[in-house]
Amino acid sequence: MNIEEYKLYIDNIIRRVEFARVRVSGHHIVKIVAISKYSTTEEIEALYKVGQRAFGENKVQDLKSKSNELEDLPLEWHFVGNLQKNKINNLLDINPDLFQSLDSIELANELQKKLHERDMTLDTLLQINSAKEESKHGVMPEVAIDIYRKIQKECPNISLRGVMSIGAHSEDKAVIKKSFELTHAIYKELGDASICSMGMSGDFELAIECGSNMIRLGSILFPK
Ligand SMILES: *Cc1c(COP(=O)(O)O)cnc(C)c1O
Repeated sequence: MNIEEYKLYIDNIIRRVEFARVRVSGHHIVKIVAISKYSTTEEIEALYKVGQRAFGENKVQDLKSKSNELEDLPLEWHFVGNLQKNKINNLLDINPDLFQSLDSIELANELQKKLHERDMTLDTLLQINSAKEESKHGVMPEVAIDIYRKIQKECPNISLRGVMSIGAHSEDKAVIKKSFELTHAIYKELGDASICSMGMSGDFELAIECGSNMIRLGSILFPK
């Protein structure tokens, strides 16, 4: 694709997001985070040039190298991967705009310790395993609210902003929808959360229909 074709291609994705969000409400704003984990800095730059500002990575090392390499651009960086305890310091060195994948109280406690030592706070989402899949990280939906409240109480340097979830891995749209609805119900019940991050390349319209206000698009934004 040349730049003009790429622009039309991205405009079409944005149009799909627009249609989906307006069906919910004209006031329902949806933020697109471009997940660049399989993409080069050149590809990130191309997407920046057609207007994208928020990017996300799932490996601390990649987040570090790409954000460093692109530090002259006014980008916003998210971390969406599994964070190992021995990588917390590396993540905090980068100081991302949003850590979307806090997935246990143990990790929260470790993170709190390191944040306190550095006298910094971190905007964070609690990851919920709404589809209850073995292969996925995140807290179980039944205990999500209790854990969220516990982190709010015990980890003052973790600024919880809401929840993140990956839709059920299924061909059945009804099953995926159920997982999104469950995540959204938890988000609503929290009352003080502002971000409901769900929806990826294959299911973002359904996620928006279920109330998502942050979608994480990887493969669709970076066509190979
Ligand atoms: C890779 C990834 C995405 C994007 O996936 P696509 O299907 O390529 O859009 C979104 N969220 C997380 C947590 C990811 O790891």
